[in-house]
Amino acid sequence: MNFATKVLHGTSCFDPVTGASSVPIYQASTFHQADLDQPPAFDYARSGNPTRAALEEAIAGLEGGERGFAFASGMAAISSVFMLFSAGDHVIVAEDVYGGTFRFLTRVLSRMGISVTFVDASSTDAVRAAITPETKGIYLETPSNPTLKVTDIAAVCRIAKQQDLLVIVDNTFMTPYYQRPLELGADVVIHSATKFIGGHSDVVAGLAVTRDAALGEQLYFIQNGMGAILGVQDCWLVMRGLKTLKARLDVSTNTADQLAHWLEAHPEITHVYYTGLQDHPGHQIQASQSSGHGAVLSFDVGSRERAKALFDRVKLPIVAVSLGAVETILSYPVTMSHAAMPAEERAARGITDGLIRLSAGLEDVNDLIEDLKQALEYLPPLPKIEEQKEAFSRA
Ligand SMILES: *Cc1c(COP(=O)(O)O)cnc(C)c1O
Repeated sequence: MNFATKVLHGTSCFDPVTGASSVPIYQASTFHQADLDQPPAFDYARSGNPTRAALEEAIAGLEGGERGFAFASGMAAISSVFMLFSAGDHVIVAEDVYGGTFRFLTRVLSRMGISVTFVDASSTDAVRAAITPETKGIYLETPSNPTLKVTDIAAVCRIAKQQDLLVIVDNTFMTPYYQRPLELGADVVIHSATKFIGGHSDVVAGLAVTRDAALGEQLYFIQNGMGAILGVQDCWLVMRGLKTLKARLDVSTNTADQLAHWLEAHPEITHVYYTGLQDHPGHQIQASQSSGHGAVLSFDVGSRERAKALFDRVKLPIVAVSLGAVETILSYPVTMSHAAMPAEERAARGITDGLIRLSAGLEDVNDLIEDLKQALEYLPPLPKIEEQKEAFSRA
């Protein structure tokens, strides 16, 4: 089945009991057990609920995995997956992971005796070089946020297999429509379903999928044991969002592509990051491992003052933390997604004071271009190259 069909005709399609056209919200914490000798399919809703089960099966099917799990947030999914590791283990992590992931790894997980090394995962050699005898896993996010660096997932998985390492991929930016890391050899896929999968900026949710059943059992034990499950109302909202994932991404990606080309040609912009641009260093790998470039791009206007002027002038995009929604979202990584990252770490990752991230929504692309055009007309002059360098070294 092709994705467009599969996304509608998975387990979230209709209620197997009544035929209702959407899976009901089973607002129940516990389930009557008719026979104490017969284990019921559902006994207590932390352990399982039919509404959550429908979403979990749907995402497992779309990612091509064995078991799916729905968590209270993307961070709940990420932190729960990291509980697969034990004290003394070492994990290699892509250096420009989501700011919240960085914070969890450096401020929480580090206290549990699990160590991490951050590497530029766009270099497979850098990943290989970071392996130690204690290494048990590799954690990737590709394309990364906000500079959209691309990791060759299959190449990293080949290295990992030789050493029996678990490969975990945060697939939030791509979704299973464009990229299915399990098919490329990864063991676990994670989503912040708050973003494209939910798609409407109205729910916070996380998902994880394991490639095989044994790892699925381990993660199930953690999900049930830690209890960071997604509530049933939110499961329903995520399933509703999932049904239009392909239709939304087709439009938003097309818009992002047009905006990236338009911005690249605009004299007020110093740099555009979008894997769909031919000169993006990850363009080829992205094109080979994903069927699309997605709806997120970043661009640099050269200084904080100019970024602020743009934010003050734009009218259509909402200015917010988050991405992957029906409305176009502009965000400022320095004070938003990457505020948790120390300034020197940010500078080392190219997250400059002039960097702006744009997540394309479903508005008419020409209206978005008109809006950005009028906002860019009023920017204060670009700082001279020397001043930019100075500002960069100060950061
Ligand atoms: C938002 C985000 C997260 C965290 O998800 P929450 O649902 O906000 O907890 C993790 N990874 C990426 C790539 C994200 O964009």
